[in-house]
Amino acid sequence: MRRKLVVGNWKMNGDLVRNRELLRTLSARVPDDVDCAVCVPFPYLAQAREHLSGASIALGAQDVCEFAEGAYTGEVSAAMLADFGCRYTIVGHSERRSMFGDDSTRVGRKALAAMRAGLVPILCVGESLEEHSAGRTEAVLRGQLDAVAEIVGASSLSRLVIAYEPVWAIGTGQAASPAQVQGVLSFVRGWLADRTSEAGDVRILYGGSVKPESAGPLFGLPDSDGGLIGAASLIAAQFLGICEAASVATQDNVRQFEGLK
Ligand code: PEP
Repeated sequence: MRRKLVVGNWKMNGDLVRNRELLRTLSARVPDDVDCAVCVPFPYLAQAREHLSGASIALGAQDVCEFAEGAYTGEVSAAMLADFGCRYTIVGHSERRSMFGDDSTRVGRKALAAMRAGLVPILCVGESLEEHSAGRTEAVLRGQLDAVAEIVGASSLSRLVIAYEPVWAIGTGQAASPAQVQGVLSFVRGWLADRTSEAGDVRILYGGSVKPESAGPLFGLPDSDGGLIGAASLIAAQFLGICEAASVATQDNVRQFEGLK
């Protein structure tokens, strides 16, 4: 059984005082049957590492440079993230794709750089509202996924976490419906199965306006392994509520699994 994973993406938010409060509260209260992580802004990696030591919350970054080292002013390498204890890094978030020119080829290179440093890339894929309305969701995702597969290679696909994040659901308060999400997650699982025998081991998350109330139905879907959480990850009670929903979904999965034996 795949363990549920709940990842907070703090984006460009936080300061030393607020971070300390949030990290302290989360560290004391996350459920232990769920994998949790927070992806913090680069300057706060050291602070987060210190507060998370001994807690069962992993550390992640929100982006990584595609190059290993050298004259790349302003960039942060995967080895540097590993040095600060990161386990994950997000690559290809829609805000990076739309505002900072990260195309799918660069996203693939970032994923590869992360893997080479021993990090787990959380690869974000998702369609815009226009693409969604035109019924092009699967075609868009196929293009984003194929580009990354070409760079990392089929044998490394199982080292990814994939996050389906419809752009129209991010920060809008309008999460996709469970039926929409399951349709897309099962498409992604099928895409993986065409390329690797380990498709069943890959964790596929949903992201986009997840709140404690919507998390349960989204995390209980057959192909859902948890969520990538933006705004709600900045509020301890909400992030903990979402982790709790993942824990309940885990217990339901265990009961179903036991029932099948
Ligand atoms: C995100 O940006 O990855 C995200 C899911 O944001 P939100 O939860 O705020 O929609």
